[in-house]
Formats: sequence, structure tokens, C-alpha cells
Amino acid sequence: MSDLVSIFLQLLLFKLVAPVTFRHHRYDDLVRTLYKVHNECPHVTRVYSIGRSVKGRHLYVLEFSDYPGIHEPLEPEVKYVGNMHGNEVLGRELLLQLSEFLCEEFRNGNQRIVRLVEGTRIHILPSMNPDGYEVAAASQNRDISGYLVGRNNANGVDLNRNFPDLNTYIYYNEKNGGPNHHLPLPDNWKNQVEPETQAVIQWIRSFNFVLSANLHGGAVVANYPYDKSLEHRVRGFRRTANTPTPDDTLFQKLAKVYSYAHGWMHQGWNCGDYFPDGITNGASWYSLSKGMQDFNYLHTNCFEITLELSCDKFPRQEELQREWLSNREALIQFLEEVHQGIKGMVRDENYNNLADAVISVSGINHDVTSGDHGDYFRLLLPGTYTVTATAPTFDPETVSVTVGPGEPKLVNFQLKRSTPPAAPKRRGPNSGHRGRVLPKKVQPRAARKKEMMVKQSQRVPA
Ligand SMILES: [Zn+2]
Repeated sequence: MSDLVSIFLQLLLFKLVAPVTFRHHRYDDLVRTLYKVHNECPHVTRVYSIGRSVKGRHLYVLEFSDYPGIHEPLEPEVKYVGNMHGNEVLGRELLLQLSEFLCEEFRNGNQRIVRLVEGTRIHILPSMNPDGYEVAAASQNRDISGYLVGRNNANGVDLNRNFPDLNTYIYYNEKNGGPNHHLPLPDNWKNQVEPETQAVIQWIRSFNFVLSANLHGGAVVANYPYDKSLEHRVRGFRRTANTPTPDDTLFQKLAKVYSYAHGWMHQGWNCGDYFPDGITNGASWYSLSKGMQDFNYLHTNCFEITLELSCDKFPRQEELQREWLSNREALIQFLEEVHQGIKGMVRDENYNNLADAVISVSGINHDVTSGDHGDYFRLLLPGTYTVTATAPTFDPETVSVTVGPGEPKLVNFQLKRSTPPAAPKRRGPNSGHRGRVLPKKVQPRAARKKEMMVKQSQRVPA
């Protein structure tokens, strides 16, 4: 056999047995890949489903953690969501690549990845819209070039316009007073949203997520809240305007971490658009109602940004490796961003954990709450802050804390039960608080919700 033939045969053999790592994954292939990663890294992964699509496909999540399935206090939860628009497929493939990468590097003892997995609980939902994806993928095979084919779910609904609109209430509250966080859902919300949206809402309510990104395509830019413009309803020229959250500087930094770690996003010129630093406030680009990122911020403790990752919504298979290499570092760095600011436990005098305690930072009109285990996470840029923890029937506790650029600062709170309003003869050592009216923020959550509902139904302008 000549050398040439031998080389040819070897190449052929290699081609036959080598895994086609960079390819588009249809639903069955996606499920197989998630379980394959789990089988390769069984001790640090878990596959679970958060619900089903209209057509009954599971919305599978792959979790990475040193204790899969368990929330460890003070270990933050982060998530990535891909393929919410079924025809925007790069995020789906990148998240599968990321899953394989995390598993492989963990097994190889890559210290950075080991530290990340041991200190963070990472949830990866590669496809929020598996039905739309199948439609989009089928149209690719038939070479139908419909830009929007497969964008919506099987009921024809755009899932990123399907979340309850809480912006109207927060814009009202920011102006007139009222809760600045955890705005309640409308009573009949389940009837107003699609199955995929319902599954995601239940998911993000059942974990205390701190940081998240939602992966899209059609542009290359890191987009941060708010998505819905405050001036959207104004008739005239300014239909949309920069609409910052109280955490605007932090969101800009989070977006820049992604854009600058990405191969070319930070350059700004992409797909015929220009975004300085490769980032944009959502509303200043175009106003969008009922989106997922605003919902995360207004209803939960989670800070979410939206990543637009490719001009071509359905890139050719040959592009996938280059895209992975230009996003890999950014995807890792963004996860690492959850480790900044302050975190800690909120407990009572007997060391019982206090869930739903409110953590306020003076100067930032957006509070976060402690999770079921009494731990809280407050992302903050370096600086000195006055931080207050409050809980119903407890005295507030305020501390001054200086946050550096590195690891989050541990700030625990131990709240003292406030003395109930009592008759003068029963005055005790804490009598200074006698008869004190609790500030609005420490009203029990149920009472706050009730108050909000009244506000929503009666006082918000249409
Ligand atoms: Zn999209």
C-alpha cells in the first residue's frame, strides 16, 4: 500500500470515528448531549426539566455544582438561557459547548474551572423554545430563508414579549413611592403566559438566582435593562429612550465584561450597527415590553442581561468553532462576575436563618432579599456603602462596608427582635423603640403584596 493511500485511509477513518463536535443539535441530539456530559461528570452535574413546551418537549437544564441539586448557603446561583427565539440558535450551541468544556476542564483539574464549579451553582438551559428550534432547523434543511421562521413558540407567541409587564408599576413606584423590588405577579398570570414562560417563571422563583444571561442572535451586543422605555407611550419623536435601572453602572460593567472578553463585540461595529463598547441599554436601542430580563430584575433577586451573539441568527455549522472560541472566555468571565459585592447570612439572635429579609443599599433604589436559607447576595461595584437589613418584627441593622474589586465581602446580619408596642408600665431596656412605626420596607411581604395589588388595580395610569 502506498503511503498516500495509507494516509487517505487514516484520514477517512479519523473522519468516521472523530466526534463532530461543532454541529447543530436537533432536540434528540441536544438531550443526548446533556446526558452525555452528565455521564462524563456525574458528581458535579445534574440534568433536570423545568417543564414542557407546547409540543411536549422537555425544557432541560444542566446544573453544575460540587453538590448538584443542593443549595449551599453563601454559594450563588447563576443561569444561562439560550434559544428563547427558536431561530436564534448560536446560544444553544454555545451552551452545549460550554457544558462540555466545564465538564472536561473540571476533570482535567483546571484550577479556574474547579474553583468556579465548587464556588458557584451554574444552571444551563440551552433551549427555552425547542419547538421553535425544530421549525427553524427544518426550514434550514429545505433552504427556506425566512428570517423569522421558528422565532415564536408553537402557539405563535414571541416568548420575549410574554412575561408579565412589571415595568409600568416600577416606573410609577419610582416616581410616587412604593416597593422597588419583588413586584408581585398578577393574580391570573398563569393564564396569560405560554407554557415555556410559565416554566421559566416557576424556575426563577424556585431558585435564588443572582446573575443570568439570555442568549440571542441577530446583532452583536450586550444589552442590559431596562428593555422597556419609560417614554414608550409618548407620542412624537422620542418613542424610546435610555431607561436605566437604579443599578445602571453595575449593569454596564456586567455587559462590558462580556463584550470585552468576546472576540469582537467590544469593537462596536457589528452587523451594520454601532454600539459603543459593544453594550447598550435595551430601551435606548428599541423598547420592548414584557421581556425576560426586566422581569428578572423586577420580580426576583436576579440581575439578567441579554446577549446578542451573531449577525446571522442561524450560522452555518462551519462558523460554530470560531464562534465558540470567541465566546468561551466571555461565557466563563461572566459567570465569575457573580462573585463580587457583598454577601452574607441574615439571622436572628438565636442563629435562626431569616428568609426574605430585605437588604437595602443607600443610594441604590433596588433592594434584594435573603433566600430560603437566610443567605443574601448583593452585587456591587467597588466602593463604600451603607447597607441595611430589615425583616418584619425585627429592628433594622445598618452597617458601613467597603467593597473591593476582588471576592465579595462577607457581611452577616444578626437582627434583634423589636420590642412590640407595649403599655408604659412594661417598659424594658429597648423602650427606645416603643411604638415605633415600622418603615414601609419591613412590612410583611404579604401585606406589601396586598398594598401593591391595590396600587396596581386602582392608581396606576393606563
Ligand atoms: Zn432574540
